[in-house]
Amino acid sequence: MTRTTSRRSRPQPAGRLLLDWHVPDFGEPVRIDAAAYLAAVDRMKPDAVYLMAKSAFGCTYYDDALGRRNAALEQDLLADLVAPLRERGIEVLAYFNVTLNDVIGAEHPEWHQVSPDGRPVIAFTYRQMCMNSDYREQVFRMLEDIARKYAVDGFWFDLAYMHSFGCFCAACRREFEREHGFALTPEIGADPARNARFHAFRRATRARFLGDAMRRVSAVRPGMRFGWNHAGDLLFSEGELDAQADLSSIEFHPPFFLRGGIAARHLRTLGRPFELMLPETLGGWGDWTVMTPETMRTMAGIAAAHGGSVNVGHVPYPSGDLAGMMASPVVETISETFRLLGERRSRPGGPRRLPMDSINAPISKPASRAAWSSWRRTTSISTFSPSGNSTDWTATNCWS
Ligand SMILES: [Zn+2]
Repeated sequence: MTRTTSRRSRPQPAGRLLLDWHVPDFGEPVRIDAAAYLAAVDRMKPDAVYLMAKSAFGCTYYDDALGRRNAALEQDLLADLVAPLRERGIEVLAYFNVTLNDVIGAEHPEWHQVSPDGRPVIAFTYRQMCMNSDYREQVFRMLEDIARKYAVDGFWFDLAYMHSFGCFCAACRREFEREHGFALTPEIGADPARNARFHAFRRATRARFLGDAMRRVSAVRPGMRFGWNHAGDLLFSEGELDAQADLSSIEFHPPFFLRGGIAARHLRTLGRPFELMLPETLGGWGDWTVMTPETMRTMAGIAAAHGGSVNVGHVPYPSGDLAGMMASPVVETISETFRLLGERRSRPGGPRRLPMDSINAPISKPASRAAWSSWRRTTSISTFSPSGNSTDWTATNCWS
């Protein structure tokens, strides 16, 4: 599928936001304080916001024609936020978690991904649905429903993956045998040649699903933009598919700074805008330890050094004194990081890569290997690897 979009020529993004608000439908009533959220957005000044449309739980956050709206949610999140965000000149993409779905998984166990031992796949504690089953059509109808009702600029797909060792569901077995002429069984891994065919089948499944999803949505409203998690990721190496994304997106978690730097180096070669996706916390999504301003600025600096941006996942509190609001230190940390990103973008000549030497400049760099060893023992970012090359990975005070 070849797509052309009218907005591919947008400038390299500055700061972006992912409203990473996975809320179950069995808890107490929740809502995001739209006025407080928009006030926070006004401080953070992102280029784009990804709004939660469907979470990992499977329930939805909008006026869902298919009837799976989150019963605990006291608002239509897209109705409350899409228009005000777009009026601010912010691009709005609907976040849609593709395969994780406890709600539909309970209704349709036959749509589950199946592991080699025949069990339904549970990923990250959620039921994981198969992109070859009739779940496809359910998802496409949900996407069309969103595109009809809300003026989003596009979609960002998460968890559009096949399970590491699968899938062996009835739909996959049927489709694989039709395409390849022999049966798909769990023993396929013992035969390298046949296993390679299985791997190709899994790649084709993702490409077909995401291609069909983009086609269906674009038929409802042309000109939409699309992205998905791990688009451009060397570890996935699905370049033919990822070339259809409007931007590349790879996760970047502290303290794995080296991996983020390698990802950014690769992404800059693809010739598309790219973002590194960070949680607001240290470690994984949903951690409770808030990232320090220094750490977020360092991570943004690594992205900016290669001409990219960061997209920060953030989570308003579901309950308590701060119910429906973001913590103010998080807002301030993101605001300052985005301000610095925007400042760099606005310099004469527009967006450009920043030589690593220049972002390292304030750091007194050890000259000898012995001095490096001493320096690494005393620094908090000892995960960086010195190579003797002055353009290597160290990145601390990126904004001086
Ligand atoms: Zn399957």
